[in-house]
Amino acid sequence: MSQQPALIDPFGRSINYLRLSVTDRCNLRCTYCMAEDMTFLPKQQILSLEELRDAAAAFVELGIKKVRLTGGEPLIRRDILKLVTALSALPGLNELTMTTNGLLLPNMAKPLKDAGIARLNISIDSLKADRFKQLTRVGELEQVLAGVQAAKAAGFARIKLNAVILAGFNDDEVLDLAHFAIANGLDISFIEEMPLGEISSHRRRDTQITSEHIRQQLAAHYSLLDSAETTGGPSRYLRVADSDSKIGFISPMSNNFCGSCNRVRMTAEGRLLLCLGNEHSLDLREILRAFPGDSARLKRAIVEAIGDKPERHHFDPEQVDIVRFMNMTGG
Ligand code: SAM
Ligand code: SF4
Repeated sequence: MSQQPALIDPFGRSINYLRLSVTDRCNLRCTYCMAEDMTFLPKQQILSLEELRDAAAAFVELGIKKVRLTGGEPLIRRDILKLVTALSALPGLNELTMTTNGLLLPNMAKPLKDAGIARLNISIDSLKADRFKQLTRVGELEQVLAGVQAAKAAGFARIKLNAVILAGFNDDEVLDLAHFAIANGLDISFIEEMPLGEISSHRRRDTQITSEHIRQQLAAHYSLLDSAETTGGPSRYLRVADSDSKIGFISPMSNNFCGSCNRVRMTAEGRLLLCLGNEHSLDLREILRAFPGDSARLKRAIVEAIGDKPERHHFDPEQVDIVRFMNMTGG
């Protein structure tokens, strides 16, 4: 195989991480992620498994080392296991991971592990059943808790929980969520809400809370040790003394991490997004469908697009500059 140039953007950042959305659909309707009445993409606009595989293969040949499957909810995509099996066989891919809401893990955790998912992130924003239902509009907390246990039983190492914290809604659960993670030998990241998409449930400016505020709540109860560890993402980690758990903070609003950005995203309909906070994108589906199997053409288009990667995002909770919702984005 010929040596391809690594993907380096105009700001000298090496791009080695792809977040691949496999569907925009979801079995939950989290208020901060989606509007209540969502219109999803028609099926024919969504990339087929073969198209997803071909696109991922092109990225990996260009030096992408880590792929995270996401959505929408990746586990509701039919044949997701086939895709995992195909991607995990790509030569040069070091790590295949997934972010899920966990609902379907009781049946899927073991097959996912067997098919090649190395690590799982599971999103859980509340440990109170009524609040969880309110936040997700339809979700049963018990199912997610069962999903977490299934992931542990399947033998996944270093499972990470993701919790978006909304002031006045679940900021009183920071300690409980951290305690749950520590008691179960899991890591946890607390995420600042981003203004992606117009939502109706709350005004985003009213629910903003900074990572620093969350860190202070935690520091009052736990002995937190600095950690230089990174999983190649924007999370900054602290270690909890006398435990295996790490606590991470993803702070897109209060602490711009774009300087070390190493990633791009591909939406379920094949749009290559160069930055979470900019609309700039390239339609890879057009190439995949017009020139099936022409990997060289696809790779040229990807390399060219990386040349347009913006330097940074500019989020403002007062306004929605980015009209696409997180489920459309591949969070
Ligand atoms: N459905 C899966 C899940 O919830 O884990 C994967 C997709 S979801 C879009 C990925 C992550 O994005 C979740 O942890 C979710 O909480 C987070 N997320 C969604 N909307 C967000 C927003 N507006 N700001 C910050 N994080 C958001
Ligand atoms: Fe679905 Fe994940 Fe968005 Fe919640 S955050 S609505 S689980 S895609």
